[in-house]
Amino acid sequence: MTDKLSIIIVGAGIAGLSAAVSCALAGHSVIVLEGATELAEIGAGFQITPNATKILQRWGLEGEMKKTWAMPSSCTVHRYADGKALWHEANFAKNIQRKYEAPFVDMHRVDMQKILYDKAVELGAEVRLDHKIKEVRMNDEHGLPELEQMDGTVLSGDLVVGADGLWSRCRESMLGSKDQPLPTGDLAYRIVLTLDQIQDEELKQFVSNPTLHFWIGPKAHAVGYSMKSGTMYNLVLLVPDDLPPEVSRRPASIDEMKQLFEGWDPILTRLLGCVTTVDKWKLMHRAELESWTNKEKNFVLIGDSCHPMLPYLAQGANSSIEDGCVLGRVLSYVTRREQLPRAVELFEKLRKSRGEKVARETFLQRHDFHMEDGPEQQARDKIFDSQQGKEEAEVKFPSRWNCPEVQSWLYGYDAYQEVVKAVKQHPLS
Ligand SMILES: Cc1cc2nc3c(=O)[nH]c(=O)nc-3n(C[C@H](O)[C@H](O)[C@H](O)COP(=O)(O)OP(=O)(O)OC[C@H]3O[C@@H](n4cnc5c(N)ncnc54)[C@H](O)[C@@H]3O)c2cc1C
Repeated sequence: MTDKLSIIIVGAGIAGLSAAVSCALAGHSVIVLEGATELAEIGAGFQITPNATKILQRWGLEGEMKKTWAMPSSCTVHRYADGKALWHEANFAKNIQRKYEAPFVDMHRVDMQKILYDKAVELGAEVRLDHKIKEVRMNDEHGLPELEQMDGTVLSGDLVVGADGLWSRCRESMLGSKDQPLPTGDLAYRIVLTLDQIQDEELKQFVSNPTLHFWIGPKAHAVGYSMKSGTMYNLVLLVPDDLPPEVSRRPASIDEMKQLFEGWDPILTRLLGCVTTVDKWKLMHRAELESWTNKEKNFVLIGDSCHPMLPYLAQGANSSIEDGCVLGRVLSYVTRREQLPRAVELFEKLRKSRGEKVARETFLQRHDFHMEDGPEQQARDKIFDSQQGKEEAEVKFPSRWNCPEVQSWLYGYDAYQEVVKAVKQHPLS
């Protein structure tokens, strides 16, 4: 490389750290500015699907991940009321590995963030905590983007990457106006249980032998899986949003939570019986942007700043890993500064339509998981029934987690290959 780019990434979440790893691997100089004073996102689980594990493997992170991951052997979709299995894929883990040559695993989010952080630092990226950004703007004199920090100091680089999440300031800087996230109409109760909190032997076994479960009902569903090598359980309850518009998160009443799931599958309600504290989080999204880049092509958005989604396909962080990976891979072809605008254009071409397609698909999953009992739900359950006893679903399926059509484009994505193909078709110079 003749020209080494100086890249400044705003935010050390999964998107920012993935971009840091990938851009550093591409040989560029990377600084990450993170507003928080420590990297310890509120602990909860995170499902990592093959489209992302494939990337993490290529970065040599599988060994570290294995120390704490849990791999769900099976995947079951239950009817809410009696817990009946509408669908059971007994060899889920094996089927996924065979089809996508990469695993589907569940981890504690903080563990994954730490692994990415360590890798980024090992590769020479500098991560500055307690560095909150106020705005990003263009400096017309030298034609570079510059960032103003909260303390007034200004920094500039060849490329600024906005990876500052749902409440992104970078997004507002790019748009040049205030822009607030929008409610999706749902909220999440996020629960983490440790084995010590569970007295019941049967439930302990349930947690120690990792499997993936969905319970689906009218206007709500629950998802549960083990993490931390089967010593912790992550449970998320998705229900209609009743938080006031100005509140995005607050401690919740356990009684109220239990009432919402009264009469659901006993295994779920017994798990809820172990909960001692819980928060509810408003689930937000955003309108699609016209572009994820500025017109000079030296400022780009990734992750939740440009494609937040419902967590109903567990793709927010996975697609942020894809974003970070693709950005770095495209930039690995940049040997001269003049090639940067073409590279940024190519990044957007590769990522925007996919990120937005995934986000739209999460709303379709809500529709299929949250049906009221009635003719539409009965028609849905007939599709589930039609596949009972098969190794894998063979038709377009209401659970996209097992649907041959959606799963193949979602999990079959190979970020490295996509970049190689795109650069062949659209060389940078
Ligand atoms: C209930 C729930 C369950 C989920 N489960 C999954 C799952 O299983 N799998 C999955 O893939 N996704 C899941 N997601 C989605 C996932 O959490 C997000 O999509 C993902 O974390 C987005 O990553 P990000 O790096 O873009 O943003 P964030 O994780 O929000 O990171 C942004 C970072 O930027 C920093 N920052 C913000 N503003 C500034 C500033 N001005 N200056 C400097 N730094 C700043 C923040 O402190 C933060 O560290 C779930 C989401 C929810 C709500």
